[in-house]
Amino acid sequence: MEPQTKRWKGSVCDADSWVAYPVLSDKQSQDVELIEAFAAPIVDKKETSRLLRELSGLYPLNGLQHIKRVRAVREKGSPHPLEVLVCLVSDAPDLKAVSIDSLLPSGGVRRGGLGEPFVVKVPARPALTRPQFELASKHWPTSFHEDKQVTVALRGELFSPLQKARMHTYMTAALTAARAATELGMEAVGAAVVDPATERIVAVGHDCRGDHPLHHAVMVCIDLVAQSQGGGCYSFDRYPACRFTPPTPDTSQSAAGVAASSQPYICTGYDLYVTREPCVMCAMALVHSRIGRVFYGTSSADGAVGTKYKIHSQKDLNHRFEVYKGVLGKQCEALNGPGSHIKREIDN
Ligand SMILES: [Zn+2]
Repeated sequence: MEPQTKRWKGSVCDADSWVAYPVLSDKQSQDVELIEAFAAPIVDKKETSRLLRELSGLYPLNGLQHIKRVRAVREKGSPHPLEVLVCLVSDAPDLKAVSIDSLLPSGGVRRGGLGEPFVVKVPARPALTRPQFELASKHWPTSFHEDKQVTVALRGELFSPLQKARMHTYMTAALTAARAATELGMEAVGAAVVDPATERIVAVGHDCRGDHPLHHAVMVCIDLVAQSQGGGCYSFDRYPACRFTPPTPDTSQSAAGVAASSQPYICTGYDLYVTREPCVMCAMALVHSRIGRVFYGTSSADGAVGTKYKIHSQKDLNHRFEVYKGVLGKQCEALNGPGSHIKREIDN
């Protein structure tokens, strides 16, 4: 079999025609949740550190360590330069007649330097992404421990032109397999598994549901990877577009220094390129086979790594992986006709 890995170097790749965006977890992609709190003006700036100390003692704002207790007042002409969070509305002792006296009844905080309270909304959770941080900061200042990779990925700039050229080649292999499936009267879905350390395409597969209802393209591809390692359960000999590359001494000695004798557990460290977002069964098979990253072209109505579920980011599963969508998105979507992925009942 011709090594697929070298072909990308000579292929024409319009890396600007698509962008791969990350499929983040619900926590990373959800809107900013806000809770109400009482803030008060600090009318005497010199009292700030004492007020902070005393307010933190009386109302520690447990679980809200991401919130900055004091904010500067940006409006020009404001009579006070700073505002401080006194307490959450839910922690206020009496909501019938709220005043600075009613909020500080215990004597633990000397009220000198504080004005009358007013209600503000503050972010209930730490921001996990820059968009969340920017949204949260519009309400109240919050700290942010930025994951730079996520920020760059959300801008669609994680992959270099060279990396995109490789990704283009791998998804093209999946697209070619999908077209072969169509010619056989099966679902137009193709997949390729790649070892990114060696740039080697390990296996290419397509939908084979004409043989078996569970032979979705991803399942076929995982079985072919297992076959390349001396395992596997099925035979896809009848389908020339479904194939695997046996490891050679050259290719099994990856840049990471993996010895020829120590093969990974099925898909450990490998990338999957698939034309359509995997279904629940395939996503769970990818968890089980320890896939490294998944790239898909187009979303699926029942998709399990972005659309309906985000199985790749489930904390209670014993393996998680990164997912990116949009690689050759238009070409992948065109496999089933424009917009058909929305209507499609059957997933890949
Ligand atoms: Zn599937």
